[in-house]
Amino acid sequence: MNNTNTKLYCLIGDPVTHSLSPAMHNAAFAALGINALYTTIQVKKEKLKQTIYSLQALGIKGINVTIPHKITVMKYLDYVDNNAKNICAVNTIVNKNGKLIGYNTDIIGAITAIKSKIKNLKNKTAIVIGAGGTSRAVCFGLAKEGARIIILNRTKKKAEKEARLLRKTLKIDVQAYGLNEKNLSLFLQKADLLCNCTPIGLNKEKSLMKKELLRKGLVIFDAVYKVGGTKLIRDARTAGCIAIGGEQMLVNQGAAAFELFVGKKPDTEIMLNVIKKKLNIPCLQAGNIYLIGFMGSGKSSVGRLLAKKLKMNFIDLDNEIEKITGKSIKQIFAEDGEEEFREVEIDALTLASKKGNCVIAVGGGAILNYLNTYRMRKSGKVVLLRAPPEVIVKRLEKEKTRPLLLGLSTTQRLARTKKLLRSREPFYNLAKNFEVQTNNKSTEQATDEIIEVLGVAK
Ligand code: NAP
Repeated sequence: MNNTNTKLYCLIGDPVTHSLSPAMHNAAFAALGINALYTTIQVKKEKLKQTIYSLQALGIKGINVTIPHKITVMKYLDYVDNNAKNICAVNTIVNKNGKLIGYNTDIIGAITAIKSKIKNLKNKTAIVIGAGGTSRAVCFGLAKEGARIIILNRTKKKAEKEARLLRKTLKIDVQAYGLNEKNLSLFLQKADLLCNCTPIGLNKEKSLMKKELLRKGLVIFDAVYKVGGTKLIRDARTAGCIAIGGEQMLVNQGAAAFELFVGKKPDTEIMLNVIKKKLNIPCLQAGNIYLIGFMGSGKSSVGRLLAKKLKMNFIDLDNEIEKITGKSIKQIFAEDGEEEFREVEIDALTLASKKGNCVIAVGGGAILNYLNTYRMRKSGKVVLLRAPPEVIVKRLEKEKTRPLLLGLSTTQRLARTKKLLRSREPFYNLAKNFEVQTNNKSTEQATDEIIEVLGVAK
C-alpha cells in the first residue's frame, strides 16, 4: 500500500513506456514487504540535466538509466564507480544522503546470466557479436572472469576499436574481426560461448546465424529479449545448445540495481516470472511437476531443490508408498512382490496428482503403467531425468535398498541397468514433456535447466 512514507524509484530514458522494469521491481518490493514504488519517466536528451537535479532535489532514492542517457548522465553525478567508468556507461544511480552515485549493473547482469550455465569462464572462448554498449559490458565481464574473447562486428573498425580499449584497460588479449558467415563458422568451431550483443532478432523473425552452425553443448547468450523469445534462442534449444535468453540479463541487472537501491537481495524467480508473463514466455503453470527417470538419475535431490526454488511442495512417491503400506519398499518387494508394489504405486500417484503445486519424484518403473502416465500428463508437466547407465551404477554403488539391483555385482548391475533402460525407453518417451541430462551437472545446474525448460517450452 502506497502512502506518505512510500520511497520512490524510477527509470529514465526515451522511450520508456515499453519497459518491463517497473513490473519486476514492484513485484520484488512487494515480495519483501518494502513500501516503495518504481515508475518510468520519459526524458528527452535536452532535459536530462534538469531532470537529474530535480530527482536529486526531490530525494528520489534510486534511478535506472536507459537509452539514450547512459553516457551523458555521468557528468551530472557526484561519483561514478570504477566499473561504470571503465565501460563509460551508468545504468543505476543511488541517492546516498543527497549525493548521486553511478553504477553499471549490465556487467553483473550479463555475467550472472552466463555463469548460471558456465560456472568457470576462465580460458573459455567466447565470441561476442556486436561492438556497442552491451558488447562492451559483456566483454568487460567476460574478461574479468578470464575468458578469451573474439569480437565479431558488422563494422570491423568498431570491433578493432573495442578490442584496443579492452587491451588497454584490462591488459588482456582480444581478437576482433568483421561479422560474416565465414568468420562465424570458423570461430564457432573452437568457441564455448556465443553472445549476441546486437539488436538482431528484436523485430523480425530472423536470427544472426544459420541454424546449421549451432552445435550441441555450445552456450548461446542472447542479450535481446522479446515477446515469445528470439529465434536464435529457439534454434539454439532445438540444436541442443545451452540457451540463455535476454530476460535473464534483464532480471539480473535489475536485481543488482535493486540490491544497490535497498541493500537487500530480491527474489529473482519472482522477477523472472513477472517478465516471462509480460513477454508471453510461458511460466510454470499451476499444477505438478513430475520427475521421472531411472533410479539414480537424480530425481530426489533435484526434486527437493526444484521445489525449494519454485516454492512448491516436494513429494517422494516411494516415501508416500512406505507411508501408505507401513513397509519399506524393499519389504514390499520381498513380501508382496513387484506386482503388488505397482498397484500401491498407482494409488499413491493418484493421491499425489490431486494435490497440485507439488514437485513429485516418481519411482523409476511407474511409467510402465499407462494409468500413471495418463495421470501425470493430465495434472502437470513431466520431466525425464537422464544419466548414462555407467553413471547410474556408480551413483548407486553404495545403495543396498534398491530391490531391482539387490545382490548383483557391479558388472551385473550395469547389464541389468542397460537392459531395464532399453525396455523402459518407449515408456519414458511416451510420458515425458521434456528431458534433462543430469550427467556432469551439479544438482543446482540440473535444477536450473528444468526451470528454464519448463519456463519457456510449450
Ligand atoms: P548499440 O550500442 O547501438 O550497438 C549495437 C551493435 O549491434 C553495433 O555493434 C552494431 O554494429 C550492431 N548491429 C546493429 N544492427 C545490426 C545488424 N542488422 N546486423 C549486424 N550488426 C548490427 O546497442 P546496445 O546498447 O549494445 O544494445 C544491443 C541490444 O542489446 C539491444 O537491441 C537490446 O535488445 C539488447 N540489450 C539487452 C539488455 C538486457 O538486459 N537483456 C540490456 C541492454 C541491451 P555496427 O557497429 O556495425 O553499427
